[in-house]
Amino acid sequence: MRKKIVAGNWKMNTTLTEAKNLTSELKQLFSNDIKCEMVVCPPFTWLTTVSENLNNSPIKIGSQNISHQEKGAFTGETSVAMIKEAGATYAIIGHSERRSLYGETNEVIHQKLIAGLSQQLNVILCCGETLEERNAGKLEEILTAQIQLGIGEMSLEYLPQLVIAYEPVWAIGTGLTASPEQAQEAHYFIRKLLSGIFGETAANNISILYGGSCNASNAGVLFSQSDIDGGLIGGASLKAQDFITIAKSF
Ligand code: PEP
Repeated sequence: MRKKIVAGNWKMNTTLTEAKNLTSELKQLFSNDIKCEMVVCPPFTWLTTVSENLNNSPIKIGSQNISHQEKGAFTGETSVAMIKEAGATYAIIGHSERRSLYGETNEVIHQKLIAGLSQQLNVILCCGETLEERNAGKLEEILTAQIQLGIGEMSLEYLPQLVIAYEPVWAIGTGLTASPEQAQEAHYFIRKLLSGIFGETAANNISILYGGSCNASNAGVLFSQSDIDGGLIGGASLKAQDFITIAKSF
């Protein structure tokens, strides 16, 4: 059985008060019928507070990025050790906004992947095509490069910590959700790629999350697809009730 995961990417949103209120609401609304792993990924500055607020709650904490460097003269960067000390057990890497706005390449994303995994983080590796790439028939080419180069040489011992998020760029923050069929088709293709890298049994144990305008209304039908194991949620993760409803959508 693959782990079901619903992770919230808060992006550069929330004041400290809003972050506290959101986590308190999530804690209150959490109920034992939630069978998936819930993860919240606040901005770096609120990681410690959010993790203190969620103490004794099953909700896990993640960061939205990590540095691939261990420590030293890397102005503006945040290391794996730092986010772990702040309470994070997950990290998102290779989000399309990091790729397109901050120039992150598959090569640097691979280094981040290894940095996170080798320091015991669960790493959510994002991939996904732009609309131009999809329309040009390049979906499989793009996913192949992002998955194969992003994973690169990776020890099998890290497999239990690896999570993939398929996020079509045209669906992120646009309200244009991929249809369940489009999403399932891409997830199936990604699982085949994982199977080529790690073998079929291992690939069948890796959780692949869907991201891109996933919300309380469409999560159920997306999560019912056979290769979709949960969601990476942006906008809808900023509303506690919506995020909880999504987590209950399996
Ligand atoms: C995201 O940025 O990871 C995301 C899925 O955003 P949204 O849900 O807002 O489309």
